[in-house]
Amino acid sequence: MKAIIVGCGIAGPAMALALQKVGVQAVIYEARETADDTQGAFLGISPNGLNILKEYVALDELLTDYTPGKIRFFNARNKSIGVIDNAEQMSRYGSETIQVKRGLLNGALRRAAQQAGIPIEFGKRLVSIGQREVTVTVSFADGSVVEGDLLIGCDGIHSAVRRAIFPEAPGPEYTGLLSTGGFTRLEDFSHPSDAIRMTFGERGFFGYAVSKSGEIWWFNNIAQKTAPLRHELDQSELTDLKKRLTALHRNDPEPIVSIIEQAHSIEIYPIYDIPFLDQWHQGRICLIGDAAHATAPHIGQGASLALEDTLVLAQCIRDCTDLHAAFSRFQSLRQERVQAIIKQARKVGDTKTVPNRFQQFFRDLLLPIFVKLEARKMDWVYGYRVDWHRKLI
Ligand SMILES: Cc1cc2nc3c(=O)[nH]c(=O)nc-3n(C[C@H](O)[C@H](O)[C@H](O)COP(=O)(O)OP(=O)(O)OC[C@H]3O[C@@H](n4cnc5c(N)ncnc54)[C@H](O)[C@@H]3O)c2cc1C
Repeated sequence: MKAIIVGCGIAGPAMALALQKVGVQAVIYEARETADDTQGAFLGISPNGLNILKEYVALDELLTDYTPGKIRFFNARNKSIGVIDNAEQMSRYGSETIQVKRGLLNGALRRAAQQAGIPIEFGKRLVSIGQREVTVTVSFADGSVVEGDLLIGCDGIHSAVRRAIFPEAPGPEYTGLLSTGGFTRLEDFSHPSDAIRMTFGERGFFGYAVSKSGEIWWFNNIAQKTAPLRHELDQSELTDLKKRLTALHRNDPEPIVSIIEQAHSIEIYPIYDIPFLDQWHQGRICLIGDAAHATAPHIGQGASLALEDTLVLAQCIRDCTDLHAAFSRFQSLRQERVQAIIKQARKVGDTKTVPNRFQQFFRDLLLPIFVKLEARKMDWVYGYRVDWHRKLI
């Protein structure tokens, strides 16, 4: 069989590698003109995602730079109000939560696919899809057309594959939070920190950690009713954004304002998710990753869920009698889990909107208990394993 994979983000190259394990040849088609490993800020990968990632890339080559997953929480007066300590994760799950630059992860997966002989074609933006009984045809914006036996939509939250096969399906929902993220180097902060410091600031939420290479990786969340129409900012918009963030955090503990002021790179993302998509597949086409079930980033599961999908879908294709059965089995194995995680991420995101002083008092009081209870409840998320050798039927 020949598989067409649309999108060379996180899910795309991992899916192609998973299909190779079951004897299906894939070609990846990516809209961007070239491979660019500088795009995006950073993202979390949890033990469940890392355990799958190990199937595709050598982790020590990937982890040239990262920040730890331990989290310390502070209120706007710099009082410590809670810790999520991941010390037990290694012994419990065999991996620890980390943050990596998205470009580094994307690059490592892309190179692994290329080294495995999987062709990747850039400058291929999918515009339409046609299906016949035994083939699927894809047309790209440059006028070219390709044909395959199946198509896996790995084209992210604003998936063109999803819109083509389910034009009536609800699109991504804006969660009411705007995220900015960036990178800064400060002379006094060159040592890796043991944790990410997250501050419930007076008017916005701010997190930062010092990476292994001594760079500060930071993000901020601001409650904002409507999402900006675009998030590629020009130089003057970037300067305005810095001013806005500095003003927002001016009363919060240092070095927050210095980190913002001296940032050498900064990105802005309105946070969307897709709480529920009824159908993930149609005929010879199946959606995975953000295209099927995008989650807000607050519990660091977007990339991990996309990676889980790749191995489960390959297993379904290996074991089921036909594509329809494989795609149906895949959705039934995955849907309940991803929906629960999307819900959990929204719940955590809601704690980041700035409450009034009365609510702040109770948040500071209750957060340590909440954090401990939630950490204990994460076993079902982090402990997820794909038993590759088990036959599904
Ligand atoms: C440029 C970029 C930067 C990001 N930065 C961050 C970040 O800093 N932090 C974070 O938490 N998450 C980030 N994300 C999202 C994160 O990668 C995903 O939430 C998650 O990893 C799931 O991966 P995915 O492969 O399903 O989707 P994605 O990683 O979004 O990959 C989708 C891929 O499909 C391609 N594509 C889109 N439309 C078409 C089309 N019509 N035809 C062909 N190809 C298409 C895109 O260019 C992209 O390469 C970013 C995504 C992108 C695309």
